[in-house]
Amino acid sequence: MARLSEVGERDGWRCWICDEPVDPDQSVNDDRGPSVDERMSDKRAKAKGKKKGDGGLTERLAHRGCNTGKGKVEAVIPWADHLFVVDPSPIIPSVDRLVKKGGREVMARCPTQADAQQAADWLVDRVSRLEPGLGVTADIDAGGGQFLVSLRA
Ligand SMILES: [Zn+2]
Repeated sequence: MARLSEVGERDGWRCWICDEPVDPDQSVNDDRGPSVDERMSDKRAKAKGKKKGDGGLTERLAHRGCNTGKGKVEAVIPWADHLFVVDPSPIIPSVDRLVKKGGREVMARCPTQADAQQAADWLVDRVSRLEPGLGVTADIDAGGGQFLVSLRA
């Protein structure tokens, strides 16, 4: 349990997948209880041939029910329901590319500038918890009667 509290403290007792608080006192057998998700941080670790216990794994705090570590399904970070976005990009692969190469990733199109601003603010906040230390900023570009939201690292 020492590892769970360590990871929990570091992640601020917030689930890295659904972004909701995790109660440290909840039973670990409960779906809303805390668990450690041993997600291979991304392909860069695999490419380096790192294995379990080799420093290639990123341990993140997740609800037991959100934790995909025991299944074969890749974790998906959902876009917030209140955002008005068209063609949203999958968040994890985009963020992984930013971590690996930096540069710029187009994340979504929005019908209005206000929608784009809201999506941009949400993304920067969300990614700051997903990949602390990446330091992303968002760009909004008007074009073709729409507003493109992109992340830059
Ligand atoms: Zn969760």
